[in-house]
Amino acid sequence: MLKDKVALVTGASRGIGRSVARALAREGAHVIAVARTVGGLEELDDEIKTAGGSATLVPLDLTDYAGIDRLGGAIYERWKRLDILVANAGILGAISPLGHVEPKTWDDTMAVNVTANWRLIRALDPLLRQAPAGRAIFVTSGAARNLRAYWGPYSVSKAALEALVGTYANEIAKTDVRANLINPGPTRTAMRAKAMPGEDPKSLPHADSLAEAFLRLASAEFTENGQVFDARSARFSALCEA
Ligand code: NDP
Repeated sequence: MLKDKVALVTGASRGIGRSVARALAREGAHVIAVARTVGGLEELDDEIKTAGGSATLVPLDLTDYAGIDRLGGAIYERWKRLDILVANAGILGAISPLGHVEPKTWDDTMAVNVTANWRLIRALDPLLRQAPAGRAIFVTSGAARNLRAYWGPYSVSKAALEALVGTYANEIAKTDVRANLINPGPTRTAMRAKAMPGEDPKSLPHADSLAEAFLRLASAEFTENGQVFDARSARFSALCEA
């Protein structure tokens, strides 16, 4: 149960982030839902309220780094701490040979997938440390290590994210905070449809099927640190049952 916990989820307007936000709220957490699309956030708010939970909506472009700092300040003012961070927002960039990638596409992909997550750490680490058992979960991809042709911006950004979170995990190792990464695996979302337009979305699991993995890493009892978990691996399932 996450009753009275405060959980921030980025990319909560759709896809994996929206499913995780719903699950956290269902377990009793107050969800701070961040994304740009107000309509998606409002639909999430309706879903959460209908299920008896509560949320605060934060329409924010995560490349507005000063906005991330302001958000940290607002969370401090209201709650004095942050129990759970789910840094899920991400973009695919372009599927294209490296030599054809537009510089803006490269910069945007790094901005959302890497720099925004560093700015979240920078703004929220003091608040996670104020929580009795702060838990930070970042969302990576198999593409961080499986370096497929034409997936350059995305692969590089997720590899950098894993280095970022691994570094952060070492810095907090002696505190009560834990930071880990989840690789969701292929999941039926808008991003996956953009990456694999020929694929039948119905052949993929719904994002709701990932909720248990996120809830597990968000719990105070989960004390691993600096690890990458494949949400659908046998290793992770065994860990959840332990
Ligand atoms: P979606 O495209 O469905 O959702 C992405 C979310 O990120 C949206 O809520 C979007 O909100 C938000 N977002 C994107 N850019 C910004 C921005 N500049 N500021 C604020 N929010 C932003 O993708 P998924 O749900 O599939 O992806 C979620 C995570 O899972 C990503 O990190 C992705 O890399 C990872 N992943 C996904 C896989 C899959 O198969 N789906 C596989 C492996 C990893 P909005 O547009 O409203 O701002």
